[in-house]
Amino acid sequence: MAAPAGHTRLAYFEDMWALRAPATGSGCPQEEGGRRAVVLDATVFHPQGGGQPADTGVIVSASGGARFLVEDVRVKDGVVFHYGRFEDAAAGDGCGAEFTKGQSVTLEVDAERRKLNSRLHSAGHLLDSCMTNLGLHLEPGKGYHFPDGPSVEYKGVVPADQLQDKKIQLEKEANELILKGSKVLVSVFPYEEAAKLCGGALPSYISQDSTPRIVKFGDYPGCPCGGTHVADIADIGNLKMIVLSNILGNWHPENF
Ligand SMILES: [Zn+2]
Repeated sequence: MAAPAGHTRLAYFEDMWALRAPATGSGCPQEEGGRRAVVLDATVFHPQGGGQPADTGVIVSASGGARFLVEDVRVKDGVVFHYGRFEDAAAGDGCGAEFTKGQSVTLEVDAERRKLNSRLHSAGHLLDSCMTNLGLHLEPGKGYHFPDGPSVEYKGVVPADQLQDKKIQLEKEANELILKGSKVLVSVFPYEEAAKLCGGALPSYISQDSTPRIVKFGDYPGCPCGGTHVADIADIGNLKMIVLSNILGNWHPENF
C-alpha cells in the first residue's frame, strides 16, 4: 500500500513481523526539535503512539560504514522521525552522506524491546475481552502499554463493593485465556469488512474512506489498532492485576 506523497510508509502496518527491512533515505538527517532525526520512505519502526512506546534499533548504511542508533521514533503529519545518533560521531558530520536522499539503508528493530511492547499491548486488549466475559460492558478508552505500570481506562463505573471481586476474576479470566491461547489477527481491511469484524460498527473517528487496521483475538470482536501484537494470546505469558479502581484501572503483567 503506497503512502500519501511525503508520508513515510508504515511497513509494520502490513507486516509487523518484519524487524529487518530495507528503506531509502528521504534527505539529510535533520535536526528536529533539537534532536537529530533520520527520515526514510518507509519504516518497520513503530513510532510512539496509541499507548505503545517507540521501537529502538539501528539504521545501517548500504556500505555498512555508518550506523545510526535509533533511540526514539515519532510520527508527525505522516512523517516518521527516527531520533538518535551516529555510532561513530564522525560518520554523522555534516549530512551523513550515506543517509541522503535516494540512498539505500537497512533498518533493524530491537527484537526484545518490540516483543515486550507487543506483549504489553496485547495484554491491554485482552483485558477488553475479559471485561466482556465478566459482564462488565464498559467502553474501552485510553490504553497505556508502557512497561512502567501499564493500564487501561474504561468509560463507566464498577460498583465499589464489587471492585475487589472483579479484580480477582479479571486476573483469573485473563490467565485462563492466556493458557488456552488463540490466534491474534492483525490486518488492514476495507471499511465494511473492518466494521463487520468489530461487531458491526467502527468508532466515528475512523473515516469511511479508509482501510482500517484491525486487531482481533480469536473469536472476540476486533477493534481498530495501529500497534504491534503477539501472534497468539498464549505469548502474553501471564497477567497480574495490581489495581482495579474507578479512577484508573491498572494491571501489571507479571514475568515481563
Ligand atoms: Zn491497540
